[in-house]
This record gives sequence, C-alpha cells and structure tokens, in this order.
Amino acid sequence: MGTMPEMNQLVKIPFDNSYLHVAEALFAHQLPTPVKQPGLIRINEALAGALSTDPQQLASEEGIAVLAGNLIPEGAEPIATVYAGHQFGGWNPQLGDGRAILLGEVIGKDGCRYDLQLKGAGITPFSRMGDGRSPLGPVLREYIVSEAMAALGVPTTRSLAAVTTGERVVRDEFHPGAILTRVARSHIRIGTFQYLAAREDFESLKQLADHVIERHYPEAGRADNPYLSLLTQVISAQAGLVAHWQSIGFIHGVMNTDNMLISGETVDYGPCAFMENYNPATVFSSIDSGGRYAYRNQPAIAQWNLAWLAQSLLPLMDDDEATAVKLAQAALDKFSDQYQENYQRRMCAKIGVTRVDAAANELVSALLSLMADHRVDFTLGFRVLADWLVWDGRQDGEPGSNERNSAESIAANSLYPLPTVFQGWLRDWQQFLGIGHTEEKAPLGEQEIAAIRAAMLACNPVFIPRNHQVEQAIDAGNSGDFEPFHRLVEVLATPFEFDPANRDYAMPATPEQRVARTFCGT
Ligand code: AMP
Ligand code: MG
Repeated sequence: MGTMPEMNQLVKIPFDNSYLHVAEALFAHQLPTPVKQPGLIRINEALAGALSTDPQQLASEEGIAVLAGNLIPEGAEPIATVYAGHQFGGWNPQLGDGRAILLGEVIGKDGCRYDLQLKGAGITPFSRMGDGRSPLGPVLREYIVSEAMAALGVPTTRSLAAVTTGERVVRDEFHPGAILTRVARSHIRIGTFQYLAAREDFESLKQLADHVIERHYPEAGRADNPYLSLLTQVISAQAGLVAHWQSIGFIHGVMNTDNMLISGETVDYGPCAFMENYNPATVFSSIDSGGRYAYRNQPAIAQWNLAWLAQSLLPLMDDDEATAVKLAQAALDKFSDQYQENYQRRMCAKIGVTRVDAAANELVSALLSLMADHRVDFTLGFRVLADWLVWDGRQDGEPGSNERNSAESIAANSLYPLPTVFQGWLRDWQQFLGIGHTEEKAPLGEQEIAAIRAAMLACNPVFIPRNHQVEQAIDAGNSGDFEPFHRLVEVLATPFEFDPANRDYAMPATPEQRVARTFCGT
C-alpha cells in the first residue's frame, strides 16, 4: 500500500499523550503505513474495557482499520521512539522502534497511564535494513505468552489485539503479515537511558528521568537523591521480576538492555519459552548459540543490564563522578540479596512453606536436584506436590498401601507421576511441614493441610504456554485457522485452575512434539 492513513472519529480511544512532550531527542513523528486488507484475529475485551475503550468498536470495520494502522483515531499522535542497547553483550548506539509505532497513551480505569503501540505497522526512521513488518507467528506467540504471563500474575506488557494485514512478509520464506497492539505501562527501556547518556545529551536525560519518576516511581521524586532512588527502585522491580520468571520457569531469550523496561514489566516476547524438564542450562533461542540467556543466567544478566542503567544515570546522581559511582555501586550491590529474597520466598511458597529459612531452602534445593536428575517437568513437578500432602508415608507394597492415601493411589490419580525416588524427599518435606506425628508436635489437622494445599495450588500453575502448543497454534494460524490460538489463549487465562477437559494443555510435550528451538522470527 504505502499511502497515508486517514483520520477517523468513529473509534473512540481516550488518548492522553505525554511522551512526545518529554524531549525531542526521544522520538520521531511517524504514521503507520496502511496495509492491504486488515482482518481481525482477536480483541482482548477485558483489557479494552480496562482502557475505557469499547471492544465492539475495536472489532468494527473502522476499529480493525485502526488496529492495522489504516485509520488514525482522534487524539493519536503516532511516533517511533529511539533507544540504544547492548545486544548479546555488544553495544549498539542506535536502535529504536523499527517496526513499532506508538499511537499514544491512555489513562486506564486503574488510574495508570498506558502506551498503545502497533507492532508491525511499517517502516520508521529506525528500521535500518528491516521492513517494519511482523509475520503472523511472532504476533500470535507474543499474544499468547504475554497474556499467559499476565494471568500468572507476572508484570508484563499486554496484548490488546491482533490483526492480519492481507500482505505477505518475506523472511526465510513467505509468511502472512500481522500487527499486534501492545499495551505497556511505558516502553521506556534501559536502552532509552543509554541512548541519551552515550550522546551526552544530559538535558534530555534529566527530562527522561523526571518523566519516569513521575510516571512510575513517584516516591523517588520525594527522595534526597531522586535519581539514585530511581535506580534503586528499578533494581528492586527487576530483582522481583526475574525471581518471578525463575519461579515459573520462564526463559526470556533476549535479555538485551533494550528489552528491559524501566517499569519492571516483561517485554519483547521473541524467542521466549517455558522450561519443561528442569534443567538450569536450558536455552531455547535459535540465535543464542553461546547460551548467554540460559535460564540460570537470567538473574546475573539482569544485574549486568542494570549496571548499564546505573552507568547512564551517573551524571544525574552526583556532580562528582567518584561519588556517583560509589552510590550506584552500592545500589547495584543490593540486587543479589533482593533477588535471592524474592526467589527463595517464591520457591518456598511452591512447596507450601511460608517461612523462609535455611532448612526450607535446603528442601527446595534437594527437590530441584532430584528434578534435574530425573528430568521432571518443572511446572507439573511442583503442581502435583499438593497431591502428596495426604500421603501416608508408606512405600508401595507395604501393608495397607492400597488405601486412598497410599503412594500407588496418589500416583494413579495424579496428573503427573513423580518418580519413586522422590519418596524420600516427600517424607522429609511432610515432616518439615508437620504432617504426621513427631515427638514434639501434634500432626496438622485436615483444615491446616487443606490451607497449605490451596496456597500451593495458587502459586504452582497447571497451565503454562507450552512451546509445542504455541507452535501448533501458530502453524494452524499460518493456514488460516485461528481456533487453536483462541482455545490456547482461553485455557491459559486461568493457569491455576485445573479443568480435566483441558488435560492435554497441561501435559508436557512428548518427544515427537518437543520444540528444541524458538526462532525470533522478526
Ligand atoms: P527485537 O529483537 O525485537 O528486540 O528488535 C531489535 C531491533 O531490531 C529493534 O530496534 C527493532 O525495532 C528492530 N527490528 C526488528 N525487526 C524489525 C523489522 N522487521 N523491521 C524493522 N526493524 C526491526
Ligand atoms: Mg526489542
């Protein structure tokens, strides 16, 4: 196509834009490039409502045209933002929205400000050699996984809509084109700060930091050193975020500094995937040959990225560089403890323990090494532990073991059988929880056990976006069938509630189904 989009007043989105008033250096005005034939895949109705936007309007012909970049709704002021970043450790002084266009911002019903961005909406001044477009596959993947993450309670960008473009996108082969409407607390990245710091544009840097403080960390504005406080709070947010990822086996895949948001939301669902068998060395991304972004490296990489944020903020933290470095270093040094605290709390909660101590941590470690040795599915391995709360502690074949609370019966009724070698650990765990008699303590009552069970089920998901399911939804979508995509999105909306009708969605990939690599597919 390549003509100009038209203005439209039928689709009402209550825009309230701020970023384009922060600093000229941070963006370029850029209209989307209209596409041939927009077609609706899905509208996220609940999210539309939360943004005071009518989902029916979005699903209308005009609405779909807006979501495809063919019509510009009143109040939108489309821009492409600029940033820099370290990609796989290497510095790139200029990146930017090469295929994403920020339509504007909306104040949600929760009072928070949200970006509305069209991803795949055409070339921008930052497209470099790219075509500004997105194949359908990555759009479906981002929709599925970002919404699953939101349902899992992880801070994340959201997906408001997905549309097809009626155009072909050329990569290694032809793919149908699509556009995702992404919603984020903001798209301001570590790389956004790096961009201005590297250019020594300290005036814009200060304007950006002030904007971020007002928008995301208002308490920092009241601190003695607001910019140090900003750094400290971003560090906390990221320590919490990555601990949350680790606790559910989420592997981001491209933790470049331009893919880490200052708001603490997960962003950029490229070659991401959930770990299946517990193996800390797991890597999915086809472009990550060195394993830089392996599961076990994620906390250290987050800290490495945060060091670049700290570096970028130095000029604002103190006029004296040595003083600024000292302050920044002290803030960065807190990352590890904060991460550990969050991680341990989440992992202990997964085994039903609310008070973190050395013994509880040791139980978690022992369980993880059993899981690693016996290639146990990380998600279901934790999920089914709750079934074992009522185990009578007898081994298979011992007298009385054909009862309801015998190992045989639990394994038979469980979604996922734990290897028999887990029984020693299960006994230690039960003892730790106080189930069964000890000399000092009376056994826990039924109600107490039920409460532990409920707490465990509320933090150990049964449904995660398994890579083979995501790939199946994408394959079907590529042939025009979006049913598997819709089904998967719906199942993943309630990840903690098991519905036997959706049993297949809970199951790990069989060896034939297993997807070894996820392609960026940009
Ligand atoms: P990502 O891997 O999505 O983090 O993208 C890295 C950089 O490449 C960003 O600056 C993107 O805007 C840019 N980029 C990725 N794909 C395209 C594309 N198809 N056209 C233009 N720019 C792109
Ligand atoms: Mg990116």
